[in-house]
Amino acid sequence: MRERIVAGNWKMNTTPAEGAALLSGVAALKNEVRDCVTLVVAPPFTHLSQIVEAAQGTGIRVSSQNCAAEAKGAYTGEVSAQMIASLGVEFTILGHSERREYYGETSETLNKKMAQAYANGLAPIYCVGEKLDEREAGSHFDVVKAQIEEVVFNLTAEQYGKLVIAYEPVWAIGTGKTATSEEAARVCGVIRKAIREEFGLEAAEEVRIQYGGSMNPGNVKELMAQRNIDGGLIGGASLKAADFSQVVLYDN
Ligand code: PEP
Repeated sequence: MRERIVAGNWKMNTTPAEGAALLSGVAALKNEVRDCVTLVVAPPFTHLSQIVEAAQGTGIRVSSQNCAAEAKGAYTGEVSAQMIASLGVEFTILGHSERREYYGETSETLNKKMAQAYANGLAPIYCVGEKLDEREAGSHFDVVKAQIEEVVFNLTAEQYGKLVIAYEPVWAIGTGKTATSEEAARVCGVIRKAIREEFGLEAAEEVRIQYGGSMNPGNVKELMAQRNIDGGLIGGASLKAADFSQVVLYDN
């Protein structure tokens, strides 16, 4: 049985003080959910350290939203996986569509970032997903399969065990449009099948696949009812503790 994983991607939102307030709102749910869900928040780099400290004893885990592709050195403005891990952060989001689109991240970059994440003990939440024109052209399965093959297939079995995959159709991110639960589940099924063919049945049954793209209290129940969807990567709805809490507690 795969444990559900719900992660809030705060993106470039919240000051440290706002982040601390948001965290304490989310922490109010801890007793009800601690045993049945992996609960993650991904604040901006500036307050990772503070949020790790505030999350202690709450059961909430902390993720960065990115990490550098290189280990150290003359890379102005970058933050290395080692620096992030040294704060007590456990996860890193990699390959988010906003990074692919606005910062030109390719599979080549992402292979390097994955290597840095693993070398420093961070568990990647690796994002994949098609753009609107790719869905309209009917190439969405191929696009997502390629994003998996070009990066995930390079992992070792040991590395693979820590991986979380987030399927996020780009056209549904921050737009209020959600993939129907059937559409989302079909792509998540294709991802799991690709994993099975490469890593075997057991690995495929164990990997956690999140859906992301305008997930909110109103649609979470239907999405989470799908066999191949094991949680959510939540943007907008993670910025209000009440909404995020409702997404986490959708079946209570
Ligand atoms: C995201 O950016 O990962 C995301 C899913 O955003 P939203 O929930 O706002 O669509």
